[in-house]
Amino acid sequence: MTSFKRKRLTADEYYTGILNADRAVLGKAITLIESTLETDKQLANEVIERCLPHSGNGIRVGITGVPGVGKSTFIESFGMFLAEAGRKVCVLAIDPTSQISHGSILGDKTRMQNLSSHPNAFIRPSPSSGSLGGVTRSTRETVILCEAAGFDTVIIETVGVGQSETAVHGMVDFFLLLMLAGAGDELQGIKRGIMEMCDALIITKADGENKTKAQRAIVEYRNALHLYPPTQSGWAAKVGICSSLTGEGVPEVWDIITEYETLTKQNGYFTTHRTEQEKQRLHETIEQLLKDRFYHNPAVVKKIKELEQQVADKKISAYSAAEELMKNRE
Ligand code: GDP
Repeated sequence: MTSFKRKRLTADEYYTGILNADRAVLGKAITLIESTLETDKQLANEVIERCLPHSGNGIRVGITGVPGVGKSTFIESFGMFLAEAGRKVCVLAIDPTSQISHGSILGDKTRMQNLSSHPNAFIRPSPSSGSLGGVTRSTRETVILCEAAGFDTVIIETVGVGQSETAVHGMVDFFLLLMLAGAGDELQGIKRGIMEMCDALIITKADGENKTKAQRAIVEYRNALHLYPPTQSGWAAKVGICSSLTGEGVPEVWDIITEYETLTKQNGYFTTHRTEQEKQRLHETIEQLLKDRFYHNPAVVKKIKELEQQVADKKISAYSAAEELMKNRE
């Protein structure tokens, strides 16, 4: 078991290492928070709590799009642009497919080769085990650790399938959707809800013969986005094009994000939004804990199978069975 081999640091060593931007310690601390062992959880919580006051100073950007749209190529190009400009870039991922197939869509090791060796960048793949809720939690906590380690630009990538976009949207300041030109929304598998969540929609691979197509698609996507009601942020989602191969349009994506940041910091939305996200997280955690406690309660464990059977046999309604279990908790 790897946990026995791993040298355990003290909370103090983790904390000091993280604040000194020691990547090895940061990496170990992330492994610690991803651990499901009860003993690790306590230590992890202590480390997170000590890092918390040092977090939150940068910008958190979520990036999504269907497989093949060019996410990793974009992040490589965009991340290099930022890292070269002196920003400290951290790339995290939430990939629900890695839990199902164990061969993840995002997990390819050859991705982002230049960025991964840049001194201003830190890349961490998606946690590969646990429920989406568990993975979301450890990614959120990883953000805290990375920010405490001095990373001011956190990029969280996810695949354009399933629930993971909502999870990522719930933990970032700015949500970027990458799309291809010339393929209908249906073809791209993007749900309307995802388009509604985005703060910018960038059409990728705008180079060579594809460039004119991308330029034409701008109008189409702009019209589609105008159908959504304005959000509380006072920001209207922008549409742009870029090529990660030529680098054209990549700095402009950063300009859009900076413009968003300036606007929402001026009108107060930036802080309100983060506070709302924290509140939401509190309530989600409470719900999760209540559920966990309920299902681990010995009286519930003892009784639940029997009641499931009675419900199946139509001897009792599902509602009454649930009520009985609630009453019988120890
Ligand atoms: P992901 O699955 O969304 O991460 O997509 P990838 O970044 O792996 O890109 C999928 C394919 O599109 C790869 O073959 C890339 O080389 C290609 N690609 C990505 N970005 C561009 C671009 O800007 N221009 C062109 N022409 N091809 C690109």
